[in-house]
Amino acid sequence: MQTQPTASHYIDGAYHEDEGGEAIPVVYAATGAEIARLHAATPDVIDRALAAATAAQPAWGAWSGTERGRVLRRAADILRERNREMSQLETMDTGKPLSETLIADATSAADALEYFGGLAGSLTGEHIQLPDGDFVYTRREALGVVLGIGAWNYPTQIAAWKAAPALACGNTMVMKPSETTPLCTLKLAEILTEAGAPPGVFNVVQGYGPQAAAMLEDPRVAKVSLTGSVPTGKKVYQSAAAGMKHATLELGGKSPIVVFDDADLESAVSAAINGNFYSSGQICSNGTRVFVQKGIKEAFLERLAERMKDARLGDPMDEETTIGPMVSERQLGIVMGYVEAGKSEGARLVAGGERVDRDGFWITPALFADVTDDMIIAKEEIFGPVMSVLDFETEAEALERANGTEFGLAAGVFTNDLTRAHRMAAGFQAGTAYINTYNLTPVEVPFGGMKMSGVGRENSKAAIEHYSQLKTVYVSMNPTEAPF
Ligand code: NAD
Repeated sequence: MQTQPTASHYIDGAYHEDEGGEAIPVVYAATGAEIARLHAATPDVIDRALAAATAAQPAWGAWSGTERGRVLRRAADILRERNREMSQLETMDTGKPLSETLIADATSAADALEYFGGLAGSLTGEHIQLPDGDFVYTRREALGVVLGIGAWNYPTQIAAWKAAPALACGNTMVMKPSETTPLCTLKLAEILTEAGAPPGVFNVVQGYGPQAAAMLEDPRVAKVSLTGSVPTGKKVYQSAAAGMKHATLELGGKSPIVVFDDADLESAVSAAINGNFYSSGQICSNGTRVFVQKGIKEAFLERLAERMKDARLGDPMDEETTIGPMVSERQLGIVMGYVEAGKSEGARLVAGGERVDRDGFWITPALFADVTDDMIIAKEEIFGPVMSVLDFETEAEALERANGTEFGLAAGVFTNDLTRAHRMAAGFQAGTAYINTYNLTPVEVPFGGMKMSGVGRENSKAAIEHYSQLKTVYVSMNPTEAPF
């Protein structure tokens, strides 16, 4: 398939190139081969994109919500029609197997566009009655130009999760995808144009950290929405604060899954597999610390190791494949480093964790048992297929240890005790708590982090608060008085 895009950037409704920018080689993770070469934005590209988004915003914001929503819903339909093509490109961009991308990427982007497209027409302010006939009404207004900055694990989904609420609220957007996966977002831009978005409403600018940082510092940007790591999140939050800009930060995690003795074993094992090995573990909300109560521990490990034998590592374009490569050589190196750290700190490697002898960036899913809270693999986000199983005895102990992390993105509990499940959900310090399931993120529900895992919420009606602002209009029905 054609993987070299027409040009690196998408500005004001058309592709735009400037070969003066630093090269961005795009590598197919399954083979290590270069499949496209793009260029990071020059200052001129950045200026053009921000100028286009700034110029387009007032008219776009003045459209009725229903009209804006229609564009988003049309884009959703086109994405679904082209799901296979989009999924293949997502696989080339990220290395994730087609068996995943066919159901999790363009489809989830389409869900977001459809949901916020539907919501757009119902966004309103409110009327507040005051004494003596005075009243206030609030206007829900756009923020202006939103800067999106993406991570590399879900490029289509990340761009759409940001663009859908931003555009629904009447903002325009400049999206900078991850330099590791720059291809899919350009397709989303093409589709939005085709769906009727006026030029400048959704722009794509390629680049590394410095290009994103330069855009964030520009006074034309009113809000930033980042999906990335905690260290990047801190820098972005600081820069946003300097300009008093709104910020949504979707950052990393080291989430717990707590499995009690009375849990449905098969479901808990499935959740541990999904929450550690889907997308080769490159998911922010993964439940990478699996706390298993002592009575069920051996049965859990045995069943897990057995089911891991059914993982099919291979050509990501083969729909039977369930395990793809790491996104890049760099990420593979990071993950291999953690596997070594786990071994040297005394964790028991039950299965996997081996570099696969083939082109591309492959590792077999790793299962560590007898992990303790102080080990590096239990403390740091790995962002790869490395599961740590830890033992526990009591509910109080499990909750305390589950919360013993600077992160707070998600948490899961498996038990058939109804009251315990809700006690745990209430006690978890996490943006999402799952009971007897894990890692489901439908667009209708809020998604985001507590503690170091981020600020703000994506998806659901909650996202509207982060992509719009209220103006209070006070109307007096009486003469204005003064003391003198
Ligand atoms: P990263 O932080 O290295 O990069 C994220 C983005 O930030 C990239 O586009 C990068 O170019 C940009 N960037 C880098 N330095 C910057 C700077 N100084 N100013 C502005 N932008 C800058 O993250 P990554 O390695 O691409 O992605 C993995 C991380 O993302 C993991 O920590 C993962 O947990 C997190 N993540 C979070 C979510 C979520 O929704 N919470 C989803 C996916 C990934």
